[in-house]
Amino acid sequence: MTKQVPIAEGLFTWPSPAPALLASRCQRCGIASFPAADSCMACSGQDVAIEELPRRGTLWTWTVQQFMPKTPYRSNETAQTFKPYGVGYVELPGGVRVEGRLTESDPQKLRIGMEMDVIFAPFRTEDNGDEVINFFFQPVA
Ligand SMILES: [Zn+2]
Repeated sequence: MTKQVPIAEGLFTWPSPAPALLASRCQRCGIASFPAADSCMACSGQDVAIEELPRRGTLWTWTVQQFMPKTPYRSNETAQTFKPYGVGYVELPGGVRVEGRLTESDPQKLRIGMEMDVIFAPFRTEDNGDEVINFFFQPVA
């Protein structure tokens, strides 16, 4: 049976009926970090709490990756099968900007400020058949 595994531990809740990205929020100054960290980037406070991030935000900036990234990028693609993909920062309510891959790669369909939902989907398949799950931002229909 195919097993689905998250691309990294602690990045999002998985498995979950309603997966969400996980951030750490500083209990001293209120700044949130994604991915979650043990201490605050802003004030180096050690008192941080893990929280689920909202699933909808707005596209802050974006670009299209036109060539296959070098290692540690790991996918099932080859230089021949690689297809350009969108990548961007999405600003989520609560003051966090999250960098992630976009489901849309057509520049005509991407606009700064458009609403984006986070989705969780297979990114690659390992040699043992495990599906590696990653998060993506998808334009709100
Ligand atoms: Zn802080």
